[in-house]
Amino acid sequence: MKIRACPRCGSRKLALMELPTERESHPTSELIDNVIAVRYLCGDCSLIEEAVVFASEEEWLSFQENRKRYLRI
Ligand SMILES: [Zn+2]
Repeated sequence: MKIRACPRCGSRKLALMELPTERESHPTSELIDNVIAVRYLCGDCSLIEEAVVFASEEEWLSFQENRKRYLRI
């Protein structure tokens, strides 16, 4: 199962947000339809950003470990 997390704080409490697209100004463009802006609102730090996607719990845990190490420097 894939895991989505906040790129800033690593939180997994994310709320999906679909931002307004410019589809209406390009009604015939399928390309534009495929570029819907999807962002996540972080429940912990309120960052609105694309989520970082991890393939497994282990990858997310190592991301968290690296983040803590970086913050300590
Ligand atoms: Zn966050």
